[in-house]
Formats: sequence, C-alpha cells, structure tokens
Amino acid sequence: MKQLVLTNSKSHQRESFRPADPRNVTFYSCGPTVYSNIHVGNLRAAFTSDLIFRVLKTLGYGVTFVRNYTDVDDKILNRASEEKSTMEAVSKKYIAEVEKDYAMLGLLEPTHKTLVTEHITEIIQMIEDILNHGCAYVAGGDVFFAIDHFKRYGELSGRKLEDMEAGARVEVNTLKKNPLDFSLWKPAKPGEPSWPSPWGNGRPGWHIECSAMAKKWLGDQIDLHHGGQDLVFPHHENEIAQTECATGKSPYVQIWLHNAFVNFDKEKMSKSLGNVVLARDFIAKYGAELTRIVFLSAHYRSPLDLGESTVENALTVLERIYEAKGRLLSVSKLKGLVPDPRREEVWGAVLASLSQAQVRFEECLTQDLNTVGALAELFILIREWNRVSNESGMLGTPGAIQVAQAILDWLQGPVFQALGIGRRDSEQVADHVREVRVALSAQRGDAVLGDAEIQEKIAHRKEARLKKDFALSDQIRDELLKGGVELLDSALGTTWKRR
Ligand SMILES: [Zn+2]
Repeated sequence: MKQLVLTNSKSHQRESFRPADPRNVTFYSCGPTVYSNIHVGNLRAAFTSDLIFRVLKTLGYGVTFVRNYTDVDDKILNRASEEKSTMEAVSKKYIAEVEKDYAMLGLLEPTHKTLVTEHITEIIQMIEDILNHGCAYVAGGDVFFAIDHFKRYGELSGRKLEDMEAGARVEVNTLKKNPLDFSLWKPAKPGEPSWPSPWGNGRPGWHIECSAMAKKWLGDQIDLHHGGQDLVFPHHENEIAQTECATGKSPYVQIWLHNAFVNFDKEKMSKSLGNVVLARDFIAKYGAELTRIVFLSAHYRSPLDLGESTVENALTVLERIYEAKGRLLSVSKLKGLVPDPRREEVWGAVLASLSQAQVRFEECLTQDLNTVGALAELFILIREWNRVSNESGMLGTPGAIQVAQAILDWLQGPVFQALGIGRRDSEQVADHVREVRVALSAQRGDAVLGDAEIQEKIAHRKEARLKKDFALSDQIRDELLKGGVELLDSALGTTWKRR
C-alpha cells in the first residue's frame, strides 16, 4: 500500500498517515445542524468527507466512518417555533431533506450516522468523567468546561490563551469562572426539550456531542477527524479539551482535516450578501457529476469559487472524459480485426502509459488528496489514446480493443471508486453538457443555435464533403464555429460540441 500523506491542520504540516489499525481506520466527520436545507458550503464539507472515505477505501484500508447530525440546537428550536412545530419534527424533516441532497450527489453511506438525541446517556457519562478529572465545574444547573485546567487549549487553532482572554467579550453570564469556559450542559428552559441528569433537567452544549459520539463508535483515540474550516475554533478545539480530559489520553485525533470555504465570483457566500445557494439548487442546475467535478477541480484546503468560469471549466472536463468514453466504447466493440506487429507494438506502448497513469493517479491521491493532479493524469492518458487512435489504420487491430477495454475498466472501476465519476452513458452526458451550455449562454444573453439547426448544418456539410465540395464544407464549419459550435471529425464520424 502506498503511504498516504495528509496535511494536519494542527501542525500545518504534511504528515504520514499511520492508523492504529489499517484494517479499521477510525474516521469522524462533523455533519450539519438540521434546521434548514443545506447550502453548497455544507455540501463541500460533506463531499470532502466522502472523498476521504473513498480514497481510504481505494488505497485498501478498512474504514469505520461516522458522520453526525446535530439535532439539538437553538437554531432548530427557533425554526420549530417559526414553523409551530417541535424540535424533533424539525430535525427529522431536515435530516430527510439533507439525505436527499447527499444521495443526489452520490455520497457513499457512512458506517454510522449518529444523532445527539440518541447519545444523551453517553454525553452525561462523559461530562461526569470530565468533572471527575477536575476539568469542569457545576454552577446551578449548568456545567462548564474550565479551560484553565487544560494546558493544551488553543493548540489546534494556534491561539494563545492570553490573547483569547484579552479579546473575549464580557458576557452577561457571570456563572463562568473564565469568559472562555464553555457549556457542557445547560439547564432546561420552560417549554424546551430536556433530559434528566445529575445536574437537573437540561440539554447538552454543542461541542460535547461530537466528543461523546466519536468515543462511543470509534474509541478514545481516533485516526482522522474532519470538518469545515469554520469548525477549527471553537468546536474542534473544545472537542480535544473534552475528550482528552475525559479519557486522560492524548492525542485524541492523529490527523485533523479541514476543507476551505466556497465563494461566488470572488465574494464570500453569506446571508448578508444574499448569495447563498442551496445544495439542491446547484445540483439541479448543473447535475451531480458536474458538481462533483467542480468540487474536484480545487484542492480541498483551497477556497473554491463556484462562479460561472469554474462551471465552464468543469463542463469541459466532463465533456472530454465522456467524449473519450464514447469513442473507447465504440472501439471496444469493433470486430474482424487483423493483427499487425507494428501496430500491436504501438498499442503495447499505450497500455504501458495506462499503467503509469494508474500509478500516478493513485500517487496524486496519496499526496494530500490531490484531485487536480489525479484528473490531470486521466487527461494525459486520454490525449495519448486520442493521438494514437487517430493515426490511420490504428483502430483495425486487436490491440485497439484490448487497450480500449483496459482504459474503460480503469475509468469505471478505480477512477469511479475514488472520485465518483465516469460511469454514466456518454450520449446522455453529451446531451446534458449541451443543455448546461445553452443555459449558461442564455444566462449571459448570447444568441444560441438550436440542436436541430446544428444537426441540419452537419448533414449539409456531409453532403458537401461527399461531393468533394470542400469550400462549402469549410464554410459550414466556420459558420458553426462563429455560433460557438465546434465540429470534431474522427475515424468514427463527426461529433460536435458547444464552446
Ligand atoms: Zn462536531
């Protein structure tokens, strides 16, 4: 197995991943608070956790992957009062909606999907452990974590306690000994859902849930923990403090992984700018596979701009993959071919290029999930295959079939397994690409040639070529090009695409 290297947010360094048990990598990812439909920023986080899961499996690891839903939270309570509903009903409704979005994008099912409301016993137990280790205190019906009792506080986010204290807001809550102390347990407010505890009826604070659920399903110390970049502080900083105090073991997590934000045309996505895009709207507009390619087109730790130019680039990527796939499929079905030693040798070289591409593809993924590099390896191979298959007579020998089949197997096997792309029908994808291009052009206000009009011109050009009227044939090609339509002639006929 190749050595996987990941950037640990704690050290800011690339570190070799050495799980305690490679047959069972323990991996936790923080999921959404379920009070509304998720936006594309949440979707990028879920996509990143899915990518990590897929790559681990591709590399041969066994994985236990836990992703939670936060189903106890003030935001859910607010939504429940707006909708004249209950916290339980609101979270149930939005969990079902989020699951739909995840399924639309083709995310794999985690090993366990956990809910806070199903782990209240474990949460209470963990708070007791923290109290017993002297890292928390009870104040009335509240239990607070005492950050002064945890020396490593701030190590993940690189913050110094003195700086944090200097910058801390003076809170109305005078029950806290230090303004940075955070809630492990909150007393029940009238009319709100609550659970009995040694400190009276109440509900857990936000951070403790992930510590308790990770401990229950994965153990005291885990290999990987992921979340969006916004969770580094305070959520993950607090998780470390809680778990390490409760278990007495350090480190809680071997490698912390965080994905960066999404932007729209260089602007941050935010409610105040009014540019928040729901995950389902983005997927409905562009399709699941194109959305995946958009996400794969930037490193997970880099901000990703979801503006039109990123979508256009992803569209070209999708189109090229499926153009190649369509041609590979046609070639793989050719019959009555005659061996030719010189041509078999050339195909042998392409087969060797495939092996190299496979090795380098996997290497890219082991280098901190370099999806951009992995896609580039796929394209180097496609270019090589296009070049050879366009040479005269090259498709007439058995080697052509063997190579075409081997590339298809790779695309629909390991590439699909790791990146979740490449298994659709090439004609359907071609139609979809055309539709999205037309929609994008219409959005820009361009004049657009209809599909029927284009087909008519292509037929006209074919006639001209049969009559050897190359001047007319070229004229038609140029007209189409002016209308943003490019023709591609190959041994297999003429296809077209919008530019
Ligand atoms: Zn969490």
